[in-house]
Amino acid sequence: MDIREMTALEIGRRIKNKELSCEEAVSAVLGAIDATDGKLGAYISVQKEEALAAAYSVQKRLDAGEELSPLAGVPVSIKDNICVKDVPATAGAKMLENFRPVYNATVVEKLEAAGMIPIGKLNMDEFGMGSTTESSIFGPTKNPWNLERVAGGSSGGCAAAVASGSAALAIGSDTGGSIRQPSAFCGVTCIKPTYGSVSRYGLMGSASSFDTMGPMGKDIRDCAAALKIMSGPDRRDSTCVIDAPFDFNGCFEGGVGGMTIGLPENYLGDGLSVDTREAILNAAKTFESMGARVERFTMPMVEYAVPAFYIIACAEGSSNLSAFDGIKYGYRSPDAQSLAEVYVKSRSEAFGFEAKKRIMLGSFVLSSGYYDAYYNKALQVRGLVVDAFKKAHEKYDFILSPVTPSGPYRLGESLKDPQRIYLADVYTVPVNLAGLPAVALPCGQDSDGLPVGMQLIGRRFGEPTILRAADAFQQKANYHTRRCPL
Ligand code: GLN
Repeated sequence: MDIREMTALEIGRRIKNKELSCEEAVSAVLGAIDATDGKLGAYISVQKEEALAAAYSVQKRLDAGEELSPLAGVPVSIKDNICVKDVPATAGAKMLENFRPVYNATVVEKLEAAGMIPIGKLNMDEFGMGSTTESSIFGPTKNPWNLERVAGGSSGGCAAAVASGSAALAIGSDTGGSIRQPSAFCGVTCIKPTYGSVSRYGLMGSASSFDTMGPMGKDIRDCAAALKIMSGPDRRDSTCVIDAPFDFNGCFEGGVGGMTIGLPENYLGDGLSVDTREAILNAAKTFESMGARVERFTMPMVEYAVPAFYIIACAEGSSNLSAFDGIKYGYRSPDAQSLAEVYVKSRSEAFGFEAKKRIMLGSFVLSSGYYDAYYNKALQVRGLVVDAFKKAHEKYDFILSPVTPSGPYRLGESLKDPQRIYLADVYTVPVNLAGLPAVALPCGQDSDGLPVGMQLIGRRFGEPTILRAADAFQQKANYHTRRCPL
C-alpha cells in the first residue's frame, strides 16, 4: 500500500511493528510534496534536512524501546502561523516574510515529544484572515479535487495537503471556521476543539478569544490521536483551562445508539445548496439507521452570528496586529526617515488589503464613540449565542449542521464579492462565538463531484461524544475514503 494512502495511525502502527522506518515515512511524504505541490501551492516551506534528521533520532529512540505514542515517526505538517523553532513562520504575510521564531509553540513541543516529525509549513490566508487562502502573499492554494477552485481557508494549505496525500496529518487553526471549512471543501476530517483545551502559546493571534488549533487528517481516529497529544494545561497560556490532556480511551465504543441529535431546521433553508441539504439529510438518516434519534429544532440568533463575529474578530485582530510596528519585529520599510514614518510606511507596505480593512474596522468599533454601539453589542450577541447552544445541548448530544452553504469557490470569485464570503461563515462562526468543539467530516459529493462536509457540534469539553459519532459514521459510510484524482 502506498504510504500516501495510509492514515497517520496506520503509518505509526507499521513503524512500531518495524514494517516501515521513520525515514521511509518522511521520504514518502517529501516525495508526495515534490509530486503535487507545484500544482497545489499547499506548502510555504519544507524542512527536508531537519525532518530527515528528526526521523533518524526518533527511529533511534524507538529502536531503544522507548514508548512514544501511536503517532511516533509520523510526519506532521503545520500551518504557517504556528511557531516551529528556527523555521520560517510567515502567517502568509509579507510582514513576517523573514521571521524565524526562536521557540516552539506548545503544540509543536508536545507533538515532537510524542515522536511526530514536523516536515513543512502550510499556506494560509494572511494572519488567518480569510476563507480562501487567496490573501496569502505566496499565492492561493488550489483545491486538489479541481485546480480551478480554492482549497478554502484560512487553513487551505493544510486541507489540500491532507487531501492530496502530501501531508499525513496537518495542524491548522480555527478562529471562525478555518479548519472546518477547508476540510469540507477538500474532503478531509478535522476537529476544532473546545476553546481552552489546547494551549495557544506559539500561535500567532488572529482573534484571541476565538483562536483554537486542531488536527486535520484522513479520518477521525487520526484527529483524535493528534488532539490527545496536543491538549492539556500550559502555564504559558492562562486561557488553557483544561485540567489534564484528553483521554479518549474507549471513546469509540458504543456508537450513536441512544443519542439524540439536534438538526437546526433554519440551517437548511434559503442559501443552502441543494446538494449540501441532501447530503446533510442523508447523514441524519444514516445516524438514525444506527439507532440515534434526530429531532428538528430552530437555532436562535443565526442572523446575528456573522456580524457579531466579524465585529469582535476585527476588534481583536486590530489589537493583535498593532504589535507589528516595524520596530519590535517584522518588516521595516527601508524608506522611513522618522519614527512616524517607520510606523506608517512599514505597516502600509507590509499589510495586505484584508488585514488593513480589519485594522480600520476594528479600530472603529473600539473607538470611544462607537464602542457601545458595536463592540459591546456584539459581546451581548455572543452571550446570547452561548445561551442558545447551552439550551440546545441540554436536549441534544450534538448538533448536526452543514459546514458551508455551498461548495468551493472558483479562484478569484471571492475577491469580487467579499460580503458573500463573510456570510458563508454562518454555520461555523457560532461555534467559535461559544467556544465549543466541532468535528467536520465528508458526508457526500456535489453535482461537480466535489466533496460536501458536515459538522457535529458538541458540548463544551464534549469531544468524546462527537468523536464517537463521527467514528460511527465513518465506520458505516465511506465518503472519507474517496481520494482526489490528483
Ligand atoms: N473566515 C473567517 C475570517 O476570515 C475565519 C477565519 C479563521 O477561522 N481563521 O475571519
